[in-house]
Amino acid sequence: MEVKWCGLDYGECIMNADEVRNPLLFGDIYKSLGHPELVGDRIRKYRVLKEKYGGYPALHEGHRDDIYSYVLDGDAEAIRLFVQKELELKEVGQGLEELLEYLNAQDIEVCVVSELKKSSEPLGSDPISLFLRKKDLLGYFHGLITPLGRLDLKTGSVDLRYKGATKKGGALYDVLAKELGERGIRPSEAVIVGDRPEMDINPARERGFRTIQYTGFVDKGPSGADMVACSFKDLMGVLRGSQDKIAEFHNARL
Ligand SMILES: [Mg+2]
Repeated sequence: MEVKWCGLDYGECIMNADEVRNPLLFGDIYKSLGHPELVGDRIRKYRVLKEKYGGYPALHEGHRDDIYSYVLDGDAEAIRLFVQKELELKEVGQGLEELLEYLNAQDIEVCVVSELKKSSEPLGSDPISLFLRKKDLLGYFHGLITPLGRLDLKTGSVDLRYKGATKKGGALYDVLAKELGERGIRPSEAVIVGDRPEMDINPARERGFRTIQYTGFVDKGPSGADMVACSFKDLMGVLRGSQDKIAEFHNARL
């Protein structure tokens, strides 16, 4: 598949949250705070939210404020420990860094495309940027696209045309198509990679993007994706840069 641009989903694609388990997270936080008696209550409240929003990724990308206020009771020190502990437990998908090196070498522009709707910190200090920085991956990406805006990871500027536009509603892909179009990239020359059919695949496909369903962490069932990849290594086998763009890239360096 020849592309100029690649958008990678965050939760259960770039980032693996399998190790973020309740007892590890809340046990450590409330023992550090000297209140081990609160662990059980916090785990219960966290479960209530996970059930309300349909699981960990939706809760963490869309409703973090609820975790801070309802589960952690607005306690600033508990929130700080939560953010820190969560970062330690989140892992990078196997083979991701090799894929990113490959995409950069193919001159394919790479962005994170996430449904992050709320963040108590501004873009750049949001949980996804912190994760990419902690794992030393920030340099591989051009941008972070979310319903809070598009953060340019090279310059730090924020494009607010994305504000309020979601993946699920599809408006985010409308803005993306427009933004790429301004730089001469058509949706058919761009690919979206993600795990959720209703969020990453179907609305993107309806707007003409190429789509790849990533099942390396979880298989969310059938979708209209162009293909399914169960590892990042598989993606390296299928994606390649546009020959025009590579020639342009090399000419510019001469
Ligand atoms: Mg996902």
